[in-house]
Amino acid sequence: MIADSRFRFLIESCDVRGQLVHLDTCWAEALARTDYPDTVRTLLGEAFVATALLAGTIKFAGKLTLQVRGSGDVYLLVVQITSEGDMRGLARWNEVPDTTQPCSAFGDDARMTISIETDQSAQPYQGIVPIQGDSLAESIQHYFASSEQLKTELFFAVSDSAVSGLLLQALPQNEQQTLDDDGWARAVALAETLSEQELLQEDVETLLHRLYHEEQVRLFESVQLRFFCTCSKERTDGMLISLGEAEVLDIVKEQGDVSISCEFCDARYRYDAVDVTALFKGYVADHPNSGTQH
Ligand SMILES: [Zn+2]
Repeated sequence: MIADSRFRFLIESCDVRGQLVHLDTCWAEALARTDYPDTVRTLLGEAFVATALLAGTIKFAGKLTLQVRGSGDVYLLVVQITSEGDMRGLARWNEVPDTTQPCSAFGDDARMTISIETDQSAQPYQGIVPIQGDSLAESIQHYFASSEQLKTELFFAVSDSAVSGLLLQALPQNEQQTLDDDGWARAVALAETLSEQELLQEDVETLLHRLYHEEQVRLFESVQLRFFCTCSKERTDGMLISLGEAEVLDIVKEQGDVSISCEFCDARYRYDAVDVTALFKGYVADHPNSGTQH
């Protein structure tokens, strides 16, 4: 499978459109930032795939964020993708859940929020669905059924080294070309024969041929995805400088160091007393008029 890509296809003879996502380097970078227990890693992997698939079905220019919050062991899961294909995300947990069943791991009260912020200053779009079923896929199917009234099925596969997902969606009534009432059921039944291994390992042409060689399928150009976060050491430096040296040194005195984690990718920026002193010394040297007045 081509690394870090999303493919769009159309099963013309079934009036079904589809997306296939495969992430490996992007997934490795997400995992490199935190030591995730297996169950949390699986949930995060599903969220990465789901977010990449969602972004392929919704036209937007800006950022799409999938977030799950609840009172369970895993209290936060957030994955974001830009219309350019930059992805970042993390999960936070109190106790390690012993299951990947979403209601148990996130809590019965958990909600999934899908929000889209566009580059224009328009009001952000937000859709909220309860967490339900045996995987995150079911909550997203519910989201499509309620928000767009479109039949949707998702299939996920998560491993240490890669995550993959397949999305099938019935075309809206006005775009349907065939009079085949059985097309949707046929497309889904065939997809259900796919093993997780196949979904993770086979390339897109092989997969589509394996499933739909008796149907008419059109495969469109792929979109490249990658892990990218806008956080940086420079930004964190700037944040500390705006707090002021005295305040920052107080934190160092209380906690031993200053540690700032990015709330989107979990990158950690740490400063000890020496780093803080050097940071402000350098800043005052560069900006002689903006240091603390004595
Ligand atoms: Zn970050």
